[in-house]
Amino acid sequence: TLSTRLERVAAHVPAGARLADIGSDHGYLPVALMRRGVIEAAVAGEVALTPFHSAQRTVRDNDLQQHITVRLANGLAAIEPGDRVTAVSICGMGGETIRDILDSGKARLSGEERLILQPNGGEQPLRQWLMNNGYRILSEEVLRENLFDYEIIVAERAESVSYTDQELYFGPLQMQARSPAFLDKWQRKLRLKQQTLSHFTRAQQALPEAKVQEVAREAQWIAELL
Ligand code: SAM
Repeated sequence: TLSTRLERVAAHVPAGARLADIGSDHGYLPVALMRRGVIEAAVAGEVALTPFHSAQRTVRDNDLQQHITVRLANGLAAIEPGDRVTAVSICGMGGETIRDILDSGKARLSGEERLILQPNGGEQPLRQWLMNNGYRILSEEVLRENLFDYEIIVAERAESVSYTDQELYFGPLQMQARSPAFLDKWQRKLRLKQQTLSHFTRAQQALPEAKVQEVAREAQWIAELL
C-alpha cells in the first residue's frame, strides 16, 4: 500500500503509461502501479546507492524485473530512448531540485511525456520553469499529511503558455478551485509571514529592505486571495 501522498500521485498516471519514476527510492510507486496493471512498463531512476539497491530489491521481491528497469543515474539520465517513456514522475523533493532535474535533463524529454511532479515547497520556481519551457498545468492539488503540505503538479507541453505572477505563486488551477486544503495552507502561510513582518518591525533589525518588501508583497497577495 502507498502513502496517501503517493496514492494521490498514482491517480495522475495515465493507464497504459510507460513511466519513468526519477528519485524512486524504494520503488514503491512504479511497483504499485505495475501490480495494479495501470502501467505497461517503468524505469526507476536513483542517484544514490542505498535507495537504488532498495528499489532493485522491491522489484525483485515482486518478480517485476521483466517490466521495471532500475537504473543508477542522475535525474533524467535514467531515461533511454528505447524506453519510450510517456510519463515522468518526480516526487518527494524540493521544487527547485525538481526544476534542476528537469532543466539539466531537458534533452532526454521528447516533449510528449506527461510530467507528474510532487514538490515539497519551491512550487513557484518549478511553475516558472514549466511556463518558460512551454508546459501547461493540467491538474494540481494540495494535500496535507503528517503535518506537511504537499503539492502535486501535472503538466504537458502546449502551445503558448502564460501565467501571471500570482498564478505562478499559488498555482493557476488551485486559485480557481480554492479547495479547503489550499485555503488552510495559505492561511497558515499568511500567519507566518505576518509574524515575520511584525518581528522585523519590533526588532528594528538591519534586514535587507528587498527581503522585507518581498514578504510584505507576498502577505498582501495572500490576504487578497483569501
Ligand atoms: N519519490 C519517492 C517518494 O516520493 O516517496 C522518494 C522521495 S525521496 C525523499 C527522494 C529521492 O530522490 C531519494 O532517494 C534521492 O536519492 C533521490 N534523488 C535526489 N536527487 C536525485 C537525482 N538528481 N536523480 C535521481 N534521484 C535523485
